[in-house]
Amino acid sequence: MNATRADQLRQRLDQVRSRIARACDEAGRDPSQITLIAVTKYHPAGDICELAQLGQTAIGESRDQEAGAKVSELPADIRAELQVHFVGQVQRNKARSIVRYADVVHSLDRARLVPALGKAAASALEAGERTSPLSVLIQVNLQESENDAGADASSGRGGAEPEQVPDLARAVLQWPSLVLRGVMAVAPLTGQSSRAAFERLAEISRGLQQSAPEARWISAGMSGDLEDAVAAGATHLRVGSAILGSRTQGR
Ligand SMILES: *Cc1c(COP(=O)(O)O)cnc(C)c1O
Repeated sequence: MNATRADQLRQRLDQVRSRIARACDEAGRDPSQITLIAVTKYHPAGDICELAQLGQTAIGESRDQEAGAKVSELPADIRAELQVHFVGQVQRNKARSIVRYADVVHSLDRARLVPALGKAAASALEAGERTSPLSVLIQVNLQESENDAGADASSGRGGAEPEQVPDLARAVLQWPSLVLRGVMAVAPLTGQSSRAAFERLAEISRGLQQSAPEARWISAGMSGDLEDAVAAGATHLRVGSAILGSRTQGR
């Protein structure tokens, strides 16, 4: 690892940790209630090693092929302490691959993914490819669809409609190989503010906890809006570019 890159990652990680501390201060929250996930997509395995050495062991990835290859490159001691969060869109035919390296999938957004992930996690457990059930979050679409043309699925941000959350939750709870942890969202591109959108997500989370009291995680907030997410009660922040810098090409 090149020293300059190591210094850069340390500085950026410190900056993000300070932002979280300040946001917690303002919101009267305890920073220990918040998990920072460094989203390392498009960045090499060496960056993951460096982050792990800085105590940043929760990482996020969004593409199966890239993530699987990178995780398998890691030295065993670093791999052992890493928590891998899959935050990208899940293609059903990738479920078997994802469950081999992911501890958590943040992006369960449709009913057909439940049996795909449930079966894949069950066989990975049986085969000894994983040692604990797969944690899942239901991704919720916070874009208010009546607003404008940018509001449809082509916005690419994905997520189930809020009304679908109870059915998805019931489906997940039927699989012993899955653990329902809560909800996830990406702030909408247009319309309401991130703060208002994340408040709405917190409300959806409260609704979910009535039937699934253990499902308390709220995954919200990225480099540009983590303060809004902290203010609205997020428990998990997914921060990429503010830590890793701009993405390299390709992959
Ligand atoms: C890339 C990504 C992030 C991180 O975004 P930044 O703006 O780089 O912090 C967070 N969540 C998801 C779902 C992502 O795909």
